[in-house]
Amino acid sequence: MENNISMDKLVAFSKTVGFVYPGSDIYDGLANTWDYGPLGVELKKNIKKAWWKRFVQENDNSYGVDAAILMNPRVWEASGHVQSFSDPKMDCKECKCRERADNVIEAYCAKHGIEGIVPDKMTNEEMDAFVSEHKIACPRCGKHNWSPIRQFNLMFETSRGVTEGGQNKIYLRPETAQGEFVNFLNVQRTTRAKVPFGIAQIGKAFRNEITPGNFIFRTIEFEQMEHQLFCKDENAIDFYNSYKEKAMKFLLDLGFNPEKLRFKDHDKLAHYAKAACDIQFFSSLGWQELNGIHHRSTWDLSRHQEYSGKNMMYTDPVTNEKYTPTVIEYSIGCDRLLLATLLQSYREEQVGENDTRIVMGFHPVLAPYKVAILPLQKNLSEKANEVYRKLSKSFMCTYDEAGSIGKRYRRQDQIGTPLCVTIDFDTLEDDTVTIRDRDTMEQIRVKIDELENIISEKVKF
Ligand SMILES: [Zn+2]
Repeated sequence: MENNISMDKLVAFSKTVGFVYPGSDIYDGLANTWDYGPLGVELKKNIKKAWWKRFVQENDNSYGVDAAILMNPRVWEASGHVQSFSDPKMDCKECKCRERADNVIEAYCAKHGIEGIVPDKMTNEEMDAFVSEHKIACPRCGKHNWSPIRQFNLMFETSRGVTEGGQNKIYLRPETAQGEFVNFLNVQRTTRAKVPFGIAQIGKAFRNEITPGNFIFRTIEFEQMEHQLFCKDENAIDFYNSYKEKAMKFLLDLGFNPEKLRFKDHDKLAHYAKAACDIQFFSSLGWQELNGIHHRSTWDLSRHQEYSGKNMMYTDPVTNEKYTPTVIEYSIGCDRLLLATLLQSYREEQVGENDTRIVMGFHPVLAPYKVAILPLQKNLSEKANEVYRKLSKSFMCTYDEAGSIGKRYRRQDQIGTPLCVTIDFDTLEDDTVTIRDRDTMEQIRVKIDELENIISEKVKF
């Protein structure tokens, strides 16, 4: 069935059933922050687990790290973030709002049909001139009284130290990648890994942006799942291509519709990069970036060698050749993949003459609950509890004894539970239960002892 849920409807649905709530909700929220509820946290953990299994556990020569969010500020000088990770902003002197100059200019050009203006390629002075020449008004108060455009760094700053004058500026990391790069030598030495090998990390990053939001698509705090492959430069393009394939296969294996995924090469490359592409996902937001694969040449390790003064070269143990490895980066936003999963999984189905059901058709490995235990009547709850406790040792389970069995099935369908186990009076006699499949709605009778194998088989990835 066609997936066409609008973003507004998904936001409301996610809050109603407990996937995602607005952040600080009782205080009317904080723009572009969101909290994961009981279902969202399970879904997110399952996404991370599936990714880690594929890119660390099953991936040759890959190792994980979990680096600190706060890093030595020199890291961000080496990475270029201190110098150039910024947006051009201007202040409205009338209503005191601060806007991104490039966004204001783009919106103005779109509205007035002006073509050929690319703010990304303009200097601040050129943008200032364009804003004055066209008397571009403030999008909030409608007046034209702007301050000159200045660059604002997107890194969140904080300071360490409690004594006066002893404060030092530090940053919340704007990306996780540097945690892998600065640990290149540590990981190589402790694992005795030979190039090519990979370092993976899942963790939070922070960007102090004025964002268009779009639910959890773009947030100021987000989680990245990243794999950096260190290889010899002559093999790098082959690895780049193989990671493109692996990244796409991961999404397809999770049940994504291939017609809603595509590769998109970057129009402009960073000066050090040899190739870069995104995988885009199609939804009610249009085509949007879901993950990126980047050939970063030897830039990252060379910069850290320069700024730290430590030798970041690798010595081939067989040939004794010394060289700086090239990095192939594969990076995917965990929150963004979760959003794509929600969009992709939601469907409304006609199941009878005047009956529809909402189904979250998650791949079973991602489903928040793998199985729901449903006693047909309340006086069967003792037996049902016994089954629940048994299965809970291996799987995330849920339990529901309220309402008709049909209503209870629907509740599980709309949160994506792949299997429902119903306990009835026969169960007391012969230790069998009914197991119902979310997608086919078919029911079969099985022994309680067989449940664990059946569920394990179902949730394999
Ligand atoms: Zn204004």
